[in-house]
Amino acid sequence: MLAWYRRWRRNRYLRDGLISEDAFTQVLGRVPACDGLDAGELDRLRRLVSLFLHEKVFSSAGHAETAAQDRLLIAINACLPVLNLGIEAYDEWATIIVYPDEFLVDHEQEDEVGVVHRGRDLRAGEAWERGPLVISLSDVHAQSAWEGYNVVIHECAHKLDMCNGTPNGFPPLHRGMSIGRWTGAFTQAYDDLHARIGRGEETPIDAYAAESPAECFAVFSEYFFEAPRRLRAEYPAVYEQLAQYYRQDPAARNNEKRYQSTIFSGSG
Ligand SMILES: [Zn+2]
Repeated sequence: MLAWYRRWRRNRYLRDGLISEDAFTQVLGRVPACDGLDAGELDRLRRLVSLFLHEKVFSSAGHAETAAQDRLLIAINACLPVLNLGIEAYDEWATIIVYPDEFLVDHEQEDEVGVVHRGRDLRAGEAWERGPLVISLSDVHAQSAWEGYNVVIHECAHKLDMCNGTPNGFPPLHRGMSIGRWTGAFTQAYDDLHARIGRGEETPIDAYAAESPAECFAVFSEYFFEAPRRLRAEYPAVYEQLAQYYRQDPAARNNEKRYQSTIFSGSG
């Protein structure tokens, strides 16, 4: 479909298709990563969310139809990363498969000597190349303020990474961004995580980021939106690259104090 025609159809849809402000605001309150968005950004997010719900097909695996509130919760989380990129960034895929809980995935992996290992894993989410986004609803509900865990943002980051082929931690960069700076920032962070893991230290970011460059981008994206100040303090160069890529500065708008207060008022 021609880009201008798609845009025209979308604008026309939004004339009557905008989701109600009440429903939007109610579910928005459950997404701490949206804290601090200004009126213009919230308006844009509501338009993106309306289009997302209209265009994506939700399919329930192993349970009854996904409730409207849950679809909205997934849509808000999915649209936050593309707030300044546009819904076009998700044009390559259409289906979201929602499992009630973590799901089993068969996988095959060839090791360095050519032996194929087969196994079964429990997963909270998956993003298939040119295919659906798969997520566990209980993990969507488990997102908590400022802890850097957000399965929808994680899988959507993989989808963005796939916009230029196989996911490799290298989404299509914008004009003016430097490939060298992107690679340098992520390589340094990736190496640092590996070094800390090698020394048996705790990592400041979920160690899953050290699995592969693709997981590194997806996990860092979760922290970028969910725990931006922590990410900026630990890996400022990565934060800067993600701010340029997502065209957002969550550390400047979010009130991460709630995270701090749970740390200091906790049991110790
Ligand atoms: Zn992943």
